[in-house]
Amino acid sequence: MMLIRCWTLAAEQHRVIFTLNLPVTSRKSMIKTIETLLLDVPTIRPHRLSMATLSVQTLVLVHLVCEDGYEGWGEATTIGGLSYGDESPESVKANIDRWMAPLLVGEDPQRVAWLMARLDKSVRGNRFAKCALETALLDAQAQRLNIPLSELLGGRVRDALPVAWTLASGDTARDIAEAQQMLDQRRHRIFKLKIGLRDVADDVAHVLAIKRALGDAVSVRVDVNQAWSESQAERGIAALEAGGIDAIEQPVAAANRAALTRLARRFNVAIMADEALNGPRDAFDLARDSAADVFSIKIAQSGGLTQARRVADIAQLSDIALYGGTMLEGAVGTAATAHLCATFSHLSFGTELFGPLLLTEEILCQPLVYRDFMLQVPTGPGLGITLDRDRIAALRRH
Ligand SMILES: [Mg+2]
Repeated sequence: MMLIRCWTLAAEQHRVIFTLNLPVTSRKSMIKTIETLLLDVPTIRPHRLSMATLSVQTLVLVHLVCEDGYEGWGEATTIGGLSYGDESPESVKANIDRWMAPLLVGEDPQRVAWLMARLDKSVRGNRFAKCALETALLDAQAQRLNIPLSELLGGRVRDALPVAWTLASGDTARDIAEAQQMLDQRRHRIFKLKIGLRDVADDVAHVLAIKRALGDAVSVRVDVNQAWSESQAERGIAALEAGGIDAIEQPVAAANRAALTRLARRFNVAIMADEALNGPRDAFDLARDSAADVFSIKIAQSGGLTQARRVADIAQLSDIALYGGTMLEGAVGTAATAHLCATFSHLSFGTELFGPLLLTEEILCQPLVYRDFMLQVPTGPGLGITLDRDRIAALRRH
């Protein structure tokens, strides 16, 4: 009763009308358990990036259970162990188990912002781990309120998202055949090529051969994953721009913002920031310096859904285009990112939310729906997905 009275008083003070028709159990609860699971899932083919080649992806899932019966899921999957970023699947699990879960268990799961502020006060960094925990809290809370997660994040303005496919076999003929198959299946018509492993001239020849084979009806972009020096980037980008490539993602080292700025100003082709963008502070600095034309928004890299939303806000206020990025997450992180991207009024570069399609194993009872070149944003409460507990039990690392 005390709680209801407090809510009513707050409502009167703020002239807000609340309808207190939630189940009694949702008015007060407690976080019972937080578990972090590692799932080793083979990929459908080797995925070659400039810093690592993946044949198995380790999904990092966080499972939150609340006293009132609601459960939430989050994901903190990384790429190539520690070769992409400074968190690994094992470090995420260790740091959640030892340092973060104890700060949350026993607390009220409905105070999501308060809980995240509590984490930030005691835990530096660890953006991926924090993202997984915040996603799980918001998933549970949105289910409690019986609304899709997108409605907790500002409200959706779109129900489906364009999805790029990454061609990363390293073989030109195989990449062209794979792209043609995706076009025939009406699954993807945006293609991102992972380059940076070979000489600039070889990479450019590979990309332009694919672009010529696929034609103007498709968008071809490249991701260099920081592999080029500034002078290599100048040569490479000039040739790619002339060949009709639509975007150059993270051509130079993330720390070299000055070079990224010079490239963004020098070329007309869109320069995209990815590894250089680790949350709102980076977004602000990149926008101030006009260091990128597009932001690749990644929820884990940003430190969670709320921080990623702030990154998107900065981009939109600065006329920087948006692209929904992936850490090659499975269904949980992909669905969470989809809910966020559904709230963006502008998403001119689409998304690359294909992570579940790169994996050989399905972990949902009903897979995410990819149709007519788009990912359909789930409509059910919370993330709107149901995990297949048996498959997860079979795949999890012990
Ligand atoms: Mg990238």
